[in-house]
Amino acid sequence: MRISRRGLFTGAAALAAGAAQAAGPRIGLRLLETSDLHMFVADHDYYRDRPDLTVGLCRVASVLQAARAEAANALLFDNGDIIQGNPLGDLMAVPGKLPAGKAHPIFRAMNLLDYDAATLGNHEFNYGLDFLGRALEGARFPFVCANVTWANGDAFLPPHLVLTRRLRADDGSLHEVRIGVIGFVTPQIMVWDRSHLEGKVRAEDITDTAARLVPALRAQCDILVGLSHSGISAAPRTNGFENASLHLAGVAGFDAIFTGHSHRVFPGPDYRSGQGIDATEGTLAGVPAVMPGFWGSHLGVIDLELTHDGTRWRPVAQTAVTRPIYRREAGKVVPLVEPTRAITEEIRAEHELTRAWVSQPVGRSARPLSTRFALVGDTSVMDLINAAQIWYSRDLLADTPYAALPLLSAAAPFKAGFTPDAFVDLPAGPLAIRDLAEIYLFANTIAAVRITGAWVQEWLERSANVFNRIDPTVQTPQELIDRRVPSYNFDLIADLEWEYDITQPARYGTTASPANPAAHRVRDLRYQGKAIDPAQEFVVITNNYRSDGGGSFPGLDGSNVVLRAPDLNRDALIRFVEQVGAVDVSPRSRWRFAPVGTAVTVLFDGAPEATPPAGVRRIGATATGFGRYALDLT
Ligand code: MN
Ligand code: MG
Repeated sequence: MRISRRGLFTGAAALAAGAAQAAGPRIGLRLLETSDLHMFVADHDYYRDRPDLTVGLCRVASVLQAARAEAANALLFDNGDIIQGNPLGDLMAVPGKLPAGKAHPIFRAMNLLDYDAATLGNHEFNYGLDFLGRALEGARFPFVCANVTWANGDAFLPPHLVLTRRLRADDGSLHEVRIGVIGFVTPQIMVWDRSHLEGKVRAEDITDTAARLVPALRAQCDILVGLSHSGISAAPRTNGFENASLHLAGVAGFDAIFTGHSHRVFPGPDYRSGQGIDATEGTLAGVPAVMPGFWGSHLGVIDLELTHDGTRWRPVAQTAVTRPIYRREAGKVVPLVEPTRAITEEIRAEHELTRAWVSQPVGRSARPLSTRFALVGDTSVMDLINAAQIWYSRDLLADTPYAALPLLSAAAPFKAGFTPDAFVDLPAGPLAIRDLAEIYLFANTIAAVRITGAWVQEWLERSANVFNRIDPTVQTPQELIDRRVPSYNFDLIADLEWEYDITQPARYGTTASPANPAAHRVRDLRYQGKAIDPAQEFVVITNNYRSDGGGSFPGLDGSNVVLRAPDLNRDALIRFVEQVGAVDVSPRSRWRFAPVGTAVTVLFDGAPEATPPAGVRRIGATATGFGRYALDLT
């Protein structure tokens, strides 16, 4: 058991320590936060249809009950992104699935936990204003949101409220304490949900709104809590700044700031200290602050110790921590709590409906979708992802300065041989949501970068380091694939044609700088049939992992991102198939190996049993369970 300052508030030491510091009763006030639950009520992975011990309101509820039991006084808040984020949320938003008079399942579950107040997240707007209003009817706790108004300026929700609570002091006496609560959401909702919101509501800058409203609110309360559905960034403030929690904390008057939206954990190593951020103590501009991960992974806990100064109750000590529902030991998930079964029982009916629903086909594919030969030329899975990414992004880029630039899209085979069983292998025919989830294994969000044709070529050079160098003069068998390179770093870019000459050394190693600056594997790179212009600017749709530097691709470090979309690539894929119905995506990345010119024997490990495409021959199996294949490179 870790000893922390938190213990002082409830332990015997608190009396002694408190008595030494000030006369008068002291009140320990514990403020608790969930955020970014995204419909993960049950500890269940709907994509794989199996338990997931890293998620669930049912699990964080158990952490919450323990944290409450330790405290004389506790209030509970939710910070938004509640009603969207998994198939259960999507299903509830289907017209007719949430009958009139029936409360939304996540609010029925949350109502069991006695929330004191909540704010909206950006994803609350994903299904439109009518559904949001309908869903919020089910919450038996108040919502506040200060920076969204109806288009005519009327309040959309109460911007703030003052909760009056009788709190127990260390000497057993009871005192009325007024806790002000004000909520904020990222104003980017006006871009991300333009189709739902344009002309109906307005969203204002978080910090400007706080500067306008906080002084009057501050005068009405003892303690002021900010519910900021916004992340943490030390970057200079611009109008409509997305991750504004640090700047918000700089508005005088806050005693605690709850953050979220970025799906990270604060305090902790997800953030670097400096410029007002203390990632060890958990403060922003000196104000205690937390961010509790996502999908119920953590509970945010801010403890304040209050004394009365003759005018009002004020904090004289503070701590901010998060408490996880699990930890990882040697890569294995170890749960730290048992789930609260009442929570999952509350939504049992909708949970089972959702499990059945994800098993239903959402469309059909005219072609098999397979990653079994994705590293030697089968582009089927990447073609589908890229078609979906372009379909999804075109609207978001309309009316931006980038709309006129040619649009490309990059995608990789995620599940392509990290074990002998780990291949996507879907025959032509019905596609279920679950199938699309297997294709898009990771919970990335769509992002786009603006780069030149020269950097597009470097991108493809970096992908090519999955191949070993083939020596045309060697007669003995040579191994094609460098299995140390994960297949998720084999990005193919749609609507281009090129050859890989793997008799050349790989231009890149594992960093974004060339390992062999003289080497080039990409040959004859063409866009619309013509040699690519190295100076031409393109917008390339990818995921946030890649755009922000994941995989160390050249030129991709987060600095040239022109779109950070609110949705998962996987959800865009599902929506694309739903929309199109019968999907027949032609090959969009036309690449091939340049002929070696001599009779070489090139081998690789692949799926245990598979009918290989032209130019590939199955020659046996490995002791580890892979199939063994020969590739014709002449
Ligand atoms: Mn979120
Ligand atoms: Mg959010």
